[in-house]
Amino acid sequence: MTRENIEKQITEYPIFEYAFFDPSEINFYPAVHTICQLECPQYGNSWSCPPAVGTLDECQARCLDYQHAFIFSTISEVNDILNMDEMLATRCEHLEIVEAIKANVFGKYDNKLILTAESCAVCEECAYPDAVCQHPEKMYPCVESHAISVTDICEKHNLSFLNGYNVITWFGMIFF
Ligand code: SF4
Repeated sequence: MTRENIEKQITEYPIFEYAFFDPSEINFYPAVHTICQLECPQYGNSWSCPPAVGTLDECQARCLDYQHAFIFSTISEVNDILNMDEMLATRCEHLEIVEAIKANVFGKYDNKLILTAESCAVCEECAYPDAVCQHPEKMYPCVESHAISVTDICEKHNLSFLNGYNVITWFGMIFF
């Protein structure tokens, strides 16, 4: 599928901004994994987060195994950006768009890697580490789990990271 075809199809979805890039452009930062370890309660509690996603070298190799990458954002306005429930509800809307784009725009690529925002919350309680991931087809690690800085990619490709008070910007990344 050509880039033009993807661009044509993507207009059917409520995407705020998007960019194509070469996976070899990505800087993989050990510090991002360190922040996960020190500051995120999901570290060590989800198959979608470090250390379950693998070492930095393994994450890097996984991403660099693809020829192309596509990043897109969706935005949602909330009444109170500090209200976690309201914020997480908008993440569900973002994930519905990710699912639709995965199936309808990138459906022809059997082998693709999708990274999104935040830790996977498909199961009420993650099976990690006692059992295998219960829904690997719906489990999308967060971008940071792969030691990637979203702001870095945004700056390189003129994508907006902050879009106003009470506006949440969600990102999805598809390697294909
Ligand atoms: S699908 Fe379930 S088991 Fe797999 S990472 Fe998500 S929450 Fe954990």
